[in-house]
Amino acid sequence: MEKTLFIIKPDALSKNFLGEILDEIQKKGFKIIAMKMVKLSKKKAQNFYMEHKEKPFYKPLVEFMSSNPCVVCVLERKNAVKFLRKITGATDPRNAKKGTLRKKYAQDGRHNAVHASDSLKSAKREINFFFKKSEIFLWKKKRYPTLLHRKLKISDG
Ligand code: AMP
Repeated sequence: MEKTLFIIKPDALSKNFLGEILDEIQKKGFKIIAMKMVKLSKKKAQNFYMEHKEKPFYKPLVEFMSSNPCVVCVLERKNAVKFLRKITGATDPRNAKKGTLRKKYAQDGRHNAVHASDSLKSAKREINFFFKKSEIFLWKKKRYPTLLHRKLKISDG
């Protein structure tokens, strides 16, 4: 099954959107196979966004991403990379389609709530950037005998 990296950025965390965003992700059929809260050092944020080093938004982006904690997750699903990008929406929420995460939760092109890997190659690099192998759990869904057992509505995209 395909894996991708998802980040709930400091702005979304500060606005208490974490629960809503994770709920949406799970209802869209993504399985969370790794997750942690991290406060990026400036150095780590610089390295993560190295490909944008020459762009004018690089410095403020690094400041923003290291300003407060984020939640980083590895998500698993069929067609995970493309599908997550689709439901994430355009970088700038003004250009994002209705119903996308950025349309709902982002403020502007920098404070844009979430990050999703843009290709399989980036997903691999970004997953390795944040997680050791031992922190990724390839768990199987099981039926547990509990009153909380509910059917999730999964949409295929
Ligand atoms: P990307 O790798 O395309 O996700 O871009 C990395 C991040 O840089 C985006 O998610 C934004 O937070 C930020 N970013 C990209 N373009 C701009 C821009 N024009 N102005 C400010 N921030 C930007």
